[in-house]
Amino acid sequence: MATVSSLDEAVELLAQLHGLAVDGERAALDARITELGAKLDAARREADQLQERIASLESENRTLKQAAAGSDEPVEVKNGCYRFDGDDALYCPLCWDNKRHKARTTRISSRQRVCGTCRSPVSA
Ligand SMILES: [Zn+2]
Repeated sequence: MATVSSLDEAVELLAQLHGLAVDGERAALDARITELGAKLDAARREADQLQERIASLESENRTLKQAAAGSDEPVEVKNGCYRFDGDDALYCPLCWDNKRHKARTTRISSRQRVCGTCRSPVSA
């Protein structure tokens, strides 16, 4: 990735600076310090671009998740339960409305079902 390579180059320059400082080569040291500053500026710009890209992707991801969740709404209320498209099972309306959780219900009498998750009775 671009930022990583810029930072690798900056670290390499820092090692060269240490060598030049030990050798007492003032002019070469100044040139390398200037080069290091430019590399660090480039790394900062690249990091800023990556942050903008991450924010953009997070926003897109949120939008897609909302769209996906919205497409999975119940299509019918049957016997007091929710039914979803392409699925004949009956689900607890409380679990769906409160937690967006699909919890199957089971029949306990001719007129009553119970949620397998919250144990709430659901009357037809
Ligand atoms: Zn429930």
